[in-house]
Amino acid sequence: MLIIAHYGEIALKGKNRGFFEKKLSETLSQYFRVTKLSGRFLLETNNPDYQDILRRVYGLTSYSEVTEVDTKNVVAETAKLVQEKDFHSFRISASRSDKDFFLTSPELNQQIGSLVKGKVDLNNADLTCYLEVVNNRCFVYFHKQEGIGGLPLGVSGEGLVLLSGGIDSPVAAHRAMKRGLKVNFIHFHSGSSASVRKAEDVIKHLTLKARLYIVPFNDIQQKILVSVKPDMRVLLYRRFMIGIARKIGNVLITGDNLGQVASQTLKNLDALGWDILRPLLCWDKQEIVDEAKKIGTYNISIRPHQDCCSRFLPEHPATASSVKEVDLELSKLNYTEMIDQALASSNFIDFKL
Ligand code: ATP
Ligand code: MG
Repeated sequence: MLIIAHYGEIALKGKNRGFFEKKLSETLSQYFRVTKLSGRFLLETNNPDYQDILRRVYGLTSYSEVTEVDTKNVVAETAKLVQEKDFHSFRISASRSDKDFFLTSPELNQQIGSLVKGKVDLNNADLTCYLEVVNNRCFVYFHKQEGIGGLPLGVSGEGLVLLSGGIDSPVAAHRAMKRGLKVNFIHFHSGSSASVRKAEDVIKHLTLKARLYIVPFNDIQQKILVSVKPDMRVLLYRRFMIGIARKIGNVLITGDNLGQVASQTLKNLDALGWDILRPLLCWDKQEIVDEAKKIGTYNISIRPHQDCCSRFLPEHPATASSVKEVDLELSKLNYTEMIDQALASSNFIDFKL
């Protein structure tokens, strides 16, 4: 099977272009035989489920299964491929990267079109035949599959996503990856295997390759429950999650969303630190839900699970906390030892499609 994969934004990025293409090709070559053509990749595979891979490749704007035709007989061979299809009206859409090819795009359109029996419709044809002339080779296809877009994974560095069982953090992960961050994940659980399963399913759905760190959070919660002011509990849970995550990743990403719940007021987010990426900070909840449905994580996220943070919630959680207040509560606990213990009892799973 031959596939042509197009990339978009990369083509615009001047000096970075080579680097971006290299990252994209590194990802693709784990699954395909890759040939670099001018401004696109030619992929070869025998895997009938190749779309499962390509739909997760950040940076691709579209991909199409193609038939290569003989350059010298491009007009007749393309016309024959069109004629084999079922259609009422058709159009030929030729594009030429080789400016010295013996026919121009309009000439290709006209000459192929004149050999095909059927009605030409340039605006509303029910069959469009695409012909790409590139590197002195000719490729024909009839269907363009939209890609996920964005930047290739890894061009912006690496991050660690704090992945809960909720709707927001998978969307945050997707947004971070779309801007070229290669991410791993960390999930805190209070003994519920349902939430871990959800985290695994989100990762399998969104990524080709990632690591999930799984950290039991029961002990920490029990200690917080005993020693910390009730209205500060949720903030302390978060503070510990961030503290543990910092031991594993340099750049942290959360699904925090301003004002969504009591723990996500500006002051509370301030108390937890601004050196955390929060891609969804200023989105509307409905926008997050729509995006979750679009990327396919919504149905995983709404599966019931025991969320470790909604346990032992105080009636009136603090909404206007400060670093000082958080630190005061932290000083009642053996922070370093608790973090070390959590890390010691954690494990990880590597996923690769
Ligand atoms: P929801 O859609 O339920 O709000 P959420 O993912 O936004 O889900 P919150 O309780 O609002 O969950 O938590 C805010 C952020 O803190 C999450 O987006 C996530 O990044 C992080 N977080 C919360 N709970 C966990 C957890 N159990 N494991 C890992 N990260 C978590
Ligand atoms: Mg939330």
